[in-house]
Amino acid sequence: MALPKLNTPKYNLKVPSTGVEVTYRPYLVREEKILMIAMESEDQKSMSQALLDIIESCTPDVSTSKLTMFDVEYIFAKLRAKSVGETSEVSVKCNNCEADNKVKVNLEDVSITDLPNTKIQLTPETGLVMRFPSMTDYTDVQNLDSLSNVDKIFAVIISSIESIYDGENLYNANAHTKEELTEFVESLNTEQFKLIQNFLDSMPQAYVKLKYKCTECGHDHDMELKGMMNFFG
Ligand SMILES: [Zn+2]
Repeated sequence: MALPKLNTPKYNLKVPSTGVEVTYRPYLVREEKILMIAMESEDQKSMSQALLDIIESCTPDVSTSKLTMFDVEYIFAKLRAKSVGETSEVSVKCNNCEADNKVKVNLEDVSITDLPNTKIQLTPETGLVMRFPSMTDYTDVQNLDSLSNVDKIFAVIISSIESIYDGENLYNANAHTKEELTEFVESLNTEQFKLIQNFLDSMPQAYVKLKYKCTECGHDHDMELKGMMNFFG
């Protein structure tokens, strides 16, 4: 006789980069196992892949290849809140006396910092519309060991261009080759190129608000804890 199957509850979340609402289920022991193996390896690539695999299993409507870093951070915090528990205890240093304080983080409160404008005006007529690079865009270029770091940044920039516009026309990046797009980017002046770099540097991040009083000196903190890995004790 077949063993009984357990029902898992379903919840909703909004994918931060697209605003699309999707359903998810908590992750289970089989996924926790994937995560533990990846963490044990201490390898960034395996860790990123494990997070994407877990999200893929738990949020079937999401195309993980399109997820940005901040989507992954946000979605994983939501999954973990329903899988392991809503609160985790983190250790933070007091700004005033540097004493370590144990503070509870509510993973349900994890939010995303403001999304930057995806339109970059290069000249009064010409500009770019960017999309947020996906986590896969980053891991793909990291796998290309033959590329220099400069080439890797270029590759991410090129793959993040959605379209280019001038006074009359909109040129969809999909309809153009990588070489054409590279040539366009290489024809920019330093100042214009900096605008693109600024866009990539201002990627949103997952954060959670922390309010606590230092147990040593009594200093009051009202701060934002950023970066997913810092949310878990
Ligand atoms: Zn203190």
